[in-house]
Amino acid sequence: MVARHDLVEDPVVAAGLLTARRGTAFFARKLGELSYADLDDQSLLPGWTRRHVIAHVGYNARAIARLVEWAATGVENPMYASPGARNQEIDFGATLPAIALQNLFDHSAIHLSVEWRDLPAERWGELVRTAQGRTVPVSETVWMRTREVWLHAVDLNNGARFADIPAEVLRRILGDIWGAWESRGDAAALALRVHDGEGGFTLAEPRPGVTVIAGPLAAVVRWASGRWTSGKGEEPGAPLTVTLDDGSPAGVPTPPRWI
Ligand code: ZN
Repeated sequence: MVARHDLVEDPVVAAGLLTARRGTAFFARKLGELSYADLDDQSLLPGWTRRHVIAHVGYNARAIARLVEWAATGVENPMYASPGARNQEIDFGATLPAIALQNLFDHSAIHLSVEWRDLPAERWGELVRTAQGRTVPVSETVWMRTREVWLHAVDLNNGARFADIPAEVLRRILGDIWGAWESRGDAAALALRVHDGEGGFTLAEPRPGVTVIAGPLAAVVRWASGRWTSGKGEEPGAPLTVTLDDGSPAGVPTPPRWI
């Protein structure tokens, strides 16, 4: 008997699954607005057309589904055979006929959703290893996918904005970015201040020698994720303000590398 509803019982994971599926639907909608000819145009990611983004998002779903299968069976099933295999797959996928690319996205998304749906409640804590070599409970795959589909919907470069991404997803992305910077020592020269309707917060207090980046959550995440200067138009609301430690205004700097 195949389950027709999610077997997960942890309410936090269940809520996360909803956000991941909403993100997949958002990506699908932005993809559906593009003609086949439009797929050849540039995405927001340097050197990648929309075809590369779609191929990457499709293969990412397959790779994450392998982790869920690993958790379900106990048989090790890595995301990718090797780091090179991941990139070769994307380069190949980008050359597929448009209809095949569309099918890759659709089928891989449905497959992943079914793997999540059918994973028994008691197996969501099983440990798996990500492509970056981190060992995580398989429940982490929900966030891994959530981040991908929302960010790459913006990268399709046809009108999705960071302000379209749910605030809780933006906050967690910013936390991931800040954590990556801190672990490499890149956060020391920066202070981030978020202020908008969601309430404000600060990542690191302004102190001598730091550059303060301030703005609405969507704008700060757009900058921190390396997408400030690419793409069309600005986020709604106030733009970023950048000040040096003496309070003098400055230009928007290039953010430290994230991934
Ligand atoms: Zn990605």
